[in-house]
Amino acid sequence: MSTAAGLKRAAYAAMERRADAIASLSDELMRTPEPGYAEYATAARFGSWLEDLGLTPRTGLAGTGVAAVLRGRDDGPRIALVGELDALALPEHPLADPATGAAHACGHHAQIAAVAGAALGLREVMAELDGSVALIAAPAEELGDADALLDAAAGAPGGADGPDGAERADRAEFPVGKAELLRTGAFDGVDMALLAHTGRGGGPRFSVGDTLNGSCLVRARFGGRSAHAGSTPWLGVNALKAATLAAHAIDAQREAFPEDESVRVNYLVTGGGSALGSVPSSAVLHAMVRAAGVDALRRAAETVARCARAGALALGARVETDTLLAYLPLHPAPALDDVVARNAGPVVGDAPTARGRHLGACTDMGDLAHVMPVSHPYCGGAAGDHHSTDYRVVDHRAAAVEPALYLAGTVVDLLCDGAAEARRVLRETPPRMSVPEYLDLRRSITRRRTWEET
Ligand SMILES: [Zn+2]
Ligand SMILES: [Zn+2]
Repeated sequence: MSTAAGLKRAAYAAMERRADAIASLSDELMRTPEPGYAEYATAARFGSWLEDLGLTPRTGLAGTGVAAVLRGRDDGPRIALVGELDALALPEHPLADPATGAAHACGHHAQIAAVAGAALGLREVMAELDGSVALIAAPAEELGDADALLDAAAGAPGGADGPDGAERADRAEFPVGKAELLRTGAFDGVDMALLAHTGRGGGPRFSVGDTLNGSCLVRARFGGRSAHAGSTPWLGVNALKAATLAAHAIDAQREAFPEDESVRVNYLVTGGGSALGSVPSSAVLHAMVRAAGVDALRRAAETVARCARAGALALGARVETDTLLAYLPLHPAPALDDVVARNAGPVVGDAPTARGRHLGACTDMGDLAHVMPVSHPYCGGAAGDHHSTDYRVVDHRAAAVEPALYLAGTVVDLLCDGAAEARRVLRETPPRMSVPEYLDLRRSITRRRTWEET
């Protein structure tokens, strides 16, 4: 029987032989960005890589997701290696697709290459591992168009405009892909999940155990009454002023958010009249509300809705608010992070590393982390800030090959020797809730309300 060290040597050797192909795949996908739930070419490329390894991928999961299983010598725990398929809508990015505006300004292409690379190595050693590996390419990690998402949520079963209890097999209920994969059963049988994300330029070469915020979208649509702005403005109800007051009311809350809840509220006022000579009869305020915990997120979203109501009350306007859960907060699984860190150390060598930061950003790995242990390390290889026009992967070895190596090494440690390490991680990290409880939580935060203050 081989030792873990011997199995890792065999897996790593197979991956190093194809390191150029792994890096090339990352580069190729970087240049063919696609928006969420429309990652057809990226999904097909990942699927063909898996077929070349002799696997039979399932496709069309939650729209465009792809999954295949590497089986070990018995039915032990199943570990998912997850990569994200989508790019961000950022048309001004130099590598943006001119037709869709999608650009890999979050480095997801490198994740797909890392999973593809880890599969190369693990295939060599699965016969001596006591469990299985799910290779999953997930759609739509980034949020799409906010209006479309909020309208789709309102039309969902239980949503404001939706048919009660009706099935919606044709389109996504949730805005993010991993929520959809959970809803549609693609993670059934998976016991824990790993995803390595590229970090920001200038950040550590490896970090793990970070917590991330969760977030909600809140939209407030104000309705007033138009009138001549010069001769009879008193006959109008100014919806733009209601939205502006709501924005001031949000700003007045900032010091009332507890520091340890990491609340962020970013808003835009969109719309708000079209003619200077007419009192604006409609205006829309969009807010992205983030917080470190679910209760804090609910409270902060409720505060924003209350501020919208205050603006409407002052002007005598009408307001309709929609709240949609985007991402749940990410909680780490220290027992699993320990195994990842142990494997990353020799791969990244002396490069700077970090552990246990709190990041204000969000990921739908936070959703997965509510139902299973999850590790979400950040790797190197990128320049610029996430979601900016100068963000791009400049070192595909650091962004794709290095995480492929330590993800594969982590799987070996977890599944060798009767999968003792995986079983220990599962004992030490009980799920926060079941999948049905998670789906109920998601739906409970999505709501539409109307206030008429005239
Ligand atoms: Zn992103
Ligand atoms: Zn990302």
